[in-house]
Amino acid sequence: MNKVIIFSAPSGSGKTTLVKHSLEIIPELQFSISCTTRQPRGSEVRAVDYHFLSPEEFRQKISEEAFVEFEEVYTDKYYGTLKSEVEKIWNQGKVVIFDVDVKGGISLKKYFGEKALSIFIEPPSIAELERRLNSRGTDDVETIKTRVEKAEEELTYAIEFDKIVINSDLNEAKLEIESLIKNFIEETRN
Ligand code: 5GP
Repeated sequence: MNKVIIFSAPSGSGKTTLVKHSLEIIPELQFSISCTTRQPRGSEVRAVDYHFLSPEEFRQKISEEAFVEFEEVYTDKYYGTLKSEVEKIWNQGKVVIFDVDVKGGISLKKYFGEKALSIFIEPPSIAELERRLNSRGTDDVETIKTRVEKAEEELTYAIEFDKIVINSDLNEAKLEIESLIKNFIEETRN
């Protein structure tokens, strides 16, 4: 059966690190590259981290119904999961892994149902999340403030996910996730 793994979390919870780690150690997984209208940052590479689109190109894809889901994650910053991306990965016989915001994660779980394992990564506390966003050094003060406010709201949706992993110790979180994913992939073979 075709399968997907959904990772959602407030920004700064360590989700992207955990997604990258899972991709490194579980060869069956393939990352679903989302579309976004935000600008590339740091060392991000086009068509590897994201498909970076103009607002016009993004609107065009909405009108073509090319997305499984899309969200305005931040004001005027759109993010969306392409149906074609999921099909491409399944055609390679692989399991899709998504790194999406909390609303996107809930939409994807509704869409894929039993085919999906949805995992919510929870930061140990809001204060710790703020500290991590500051030390990452990629966002300005205003952006961090917006992300922290959003995180407080997003934490209330954790219970809608199949599994919650609290990321206080990164190595423990990695091990927990590795076993959740392996069990889920294994189940599907039977
Ligand atoms: P960032 O700008 O930090 O790369 O991502 C901001 C948020 O958008 C993160 O929570 C990320 O997981 C989420 N995101 C990335 N791609 C998608 C997508 O296709 N759909 C949704 N709903 N959120 C996404």
